[in-house]
Amino acid sequence: MPLVDDCVFCRILKGEIPCTKIYEDDMVLAFLDIAPFNPGHTVIIPKEHQHSSTALDVEYLKAIIAVAPKIGAALMRATGAEGFNIFQNNGRVAGQTVPHVHFHVVPRFADDGVIIYSAGKKYNNTDEMTAVADKVKAALKI
Ligand code: 5GP
Ligand code: ZN
Repeated sequence: MPLVDDCVFCRILKGEIPCTKIYEDDMVLAFLDIAPFNPGHTVIIPKEHQHSSTALDVEYLKAIIAVAPKIGAALMRATGAEGFNIFQNNGRVAGQTVPHVHFHVVPRFADDGVIIYSAGKKYNNTDEMTAVADKVKAALKI
């Protein structure tokens, strides 16, 4: 989908809003998140407007995933981070606030206070687990 007027990341791509660029190629732009979990927190966006990663052309997804670990490694070298998280919030309920697909790369330090994951839940038994897997497999469109 072409860039749109009412999307902050499209406006960054059009040069209407400044960003602190980390990396750019034909497919993606990566820049510092304005409200970082830790210094260096980077967002990688495709150069097309899509709200959901499910709608994004696979070539953009490939380009983003190819770049994300390299940025993570650079963040480790540059900031002294001992690791990093790569994640994409898809949908409001998942925490997505900007309606343009983006992947976060967050450098991580010991005891940095960043909490991304909740404790794991439990299945009651293996039958329940198998039933969930069967439903997902039936719904999978690849
Ligand atoms: P989400 O919650 O949608 O996964 O992440 C959106 C991210 O975009 C947030 O972490 C937020 O801080 C960042 N963000 C929102 N507006 C701007 C902006 O204008 N410039 C930059 N650099 N980051 C932004
Ligand atoms: Zn957009």
